[in-house]
This record gives sequence, C-alpha cells and structure tokens, in this order.
Amino acid sequence: MTKKIFIWLLSFFYRPRGDKYYVLIKDKRTCSVCGKRTKRGVQGIRGPNKDKVFCVLCYLYEVPDKVDRILAKLCTPLLNIFLGLVVIIAAAIIACSYYPFSTSDQSVALYEFGNELKIDAEGKEKIVEYFYHLTSIAKREDISRGQIRIQVEAALKTRFPLLMLAIIYRESLFDPGALGEWITVDYKGKKIKTRARGNTQVLPTWTERLIAEGIIEEERDLQDPVLGVRSGEFIFCQHLIEEKGDILMATKEFVGSSKPDPLNVQYVRDVFETYGELRLLLMSMKEEGEFPLGNGLTKCC
Ligand SMILES: [Zn+2]
Repeated sequence: MTKKIFIWLLSFFYRPRGDKYYVLIKDKRTCSVCGKRTKRGVQGIRGPNKDKVFCVLCYLYEVPDKVDRILAKLCTPLLNIFLGLVVIIAAAIIACSYYPFSTSDQSVALYEFGNELKIDAEGKEKIVEYFYHLTSIAKREDISRGQIRIQVEAALKTRFPLLMLAIIYRESLFDPGALGEWITVDYKGKKIKTRARGNTQVLPTWTERLIAEGIIEEERDLQDPVLGVRSGEFIFCQHLIEEKGDILMATKEFVGSSKPDPLNVQYVRDVFETYGELRLLLMSMKEEGEFPLGNGLTKCC
C-alpha cells in the first residue's frame, strides 16, 4: 500500500531515462497499459515490451526494480530527515516548557498565594471604603471612591490582589497620575534621568518590555488606572520569578533594590502592614456570619 502511494507520488516527479530497452517518446502518445495520452513516457525498443508505450506511472510499475532502487537510495536521507525532525520537535517542546515567559499564567501559578480568597461585591466595597478612609487621612481629597473602585477591581483580577492593593496604596495613594522624583538609572549601558509613573510607580525603563508583552501601547498608559495595575503586576511577577518565588524579596526588588537600605525596609513593612490589615478585614467579614465570636469564647471557657 505504502509502495503504491510512493509510486504514485514518484510518477509526478520522475523523469524516465532511455536505455537499451526503452527510448523516450517525443510527442503525445497513448499509454498501451492505461490508455492515457502522455508526453513524458517511454517506448519499448527491445524485449517483451517492444513497441509498447508507457506513461510514467505504468513504466514505474513495469520495471519494479527501478522503484526499489529509488526507494533504497531515498531510505537513508528520509530516515535522517525524520530523526532530525523528531529531535527538533522534542527540543522545541522541552524549550517551551522551561521558558519562563512563554505564558505568564503558567510561570507564576506556583507562587500564587492569594487564590484562596473569594472576594465578593460586599468584600470589594469594604476594601474601597478602607482605602477611601486611608486616603482621607492622608488628606488626598482628590481621590474619589470611584477612582479607588476602578483600581480595586483591576487589582482583584491580578494574581496577588491584596498585595497589589497594598503596593498601589504605598506607591501612589491610588493616584494614577502620580509622578515620582527624578532619579538617575542605568538603562542599556547608559545613565538616564527618569521618574516613576502611575499608581504602581513603574519606571519608564520598563516601557519597551511592557509594550512587547502587550500590556501597554505607549508610555503614557503607565498612568492609566487599570494598565498601571497590570504593569505593576507584571513587573512584580518578573521579580518573583527572579527571586524564585520569594515574595518578600520580590517586594524589596519592586522598590528598586533588595539591599538593606532603611528606606526599603520601611517600604516593605508599609506594604505588608496594609496587606495584613486587608486580610484581617476580609477574614473578620467571613467570620461575622459563620462563627460568632461569642460562641467560640463560651465554648473554650
Ligand atoms: Zn499508463
């Protein structure tokens, strides 16, 4: 069966050659076997096929040893090509599964630690109120509930909802238009002056990468309330991958340095203080209905 298919395929490409038994036909002739008109066939000049005309396909069937020789000749190269393809495909599969940025979902799924939280509409509003209260204390009268709500909703769609919210609060007090101080950083071997932008205070040195990842379209998007959150999440995840899942180190890296700088230490503490308060806020909400505190106390005393 395979050989039949092979002969059929071969008949499209094979150019018959004349020898002492056959000559090439030079005009259109009718095949003596299948009756097809053909221009590429041969005509027998000696032996049992004398005066018979063969089209290429019938010729290949007529002289089976010819096909066998071609097959034998092709066998080794075909086997090599097949083995080569197997090796290339296997290498590609292995490379894909180890490439950390192939799909960001896969690469950070291991580090997820907020997924046990199911934050419903009520929980979301509690978070909004919590931050609204905090921004009021910080005298940021220009930050509205609606503005906070947009950013809370965006953060709840990230892999680290509460941590992202704590970072947003620490970085910008929920101000998507926040601009950091001018700083000098190394970028592509050059020292450039730049300032962090947006609610997660992303340095524009990340712009190129974020555009390549399809998160933002231009640098100004860093000051978009939703894209700022997504950019912050992406950068945090990159630090998390670099730090092999160490959330504390990744948070330190997010500030720009994991060195024991007193400012960074305070930054990280601020973030985790807010993070802890948010968790407690949501936990107490859950327990209000399910486990009244009074019961627990009377039981244990
Ligand atoms: Zn024929």
